[in-house]
Amino acid sequence: MGQAKLRGSQEQRIAQARAKIEATRPEKLVCNSCQGDVTDIHPVSTRGLRGIEAIWMGQCQCGHTTFAASGEPKSVQAFFDALATEGELAIGSQSQDGEKHESL
Ligand SMILES: [Zn+2]
Repeated sequence: MGQAKLRGSQEQRIAQARAKIEATRPEKLVCNSCQGDVTDIHPVSTRGLRGIEAIWMGQCQCGHTTFAASGEPKSVQAFFDALATEGELAIGSQSQDGEKHESL
């Protein structure tokens, strides 16, 4: 298999994007609230977030939600700034926009 002959169907592109995101999946997050290990981690849509490669949302057993983001440092910082300002509502509206997620 050399170059892709097909012009990458949308399905392929989604699969590639998913694989790319999966590659950034953290093994675990540290809960911001109880400092416990968070292993229940789900990808969040980064649609509309320029410079962000991936966002992960971890649901801690204590009920706290912890986020991790990767991408350009500036964009990641802006993301966390927005998160601190607007809370989870901002993220919720992002994740509802377009893609479906397994268990949000
Ligand atoms: Zn916790």
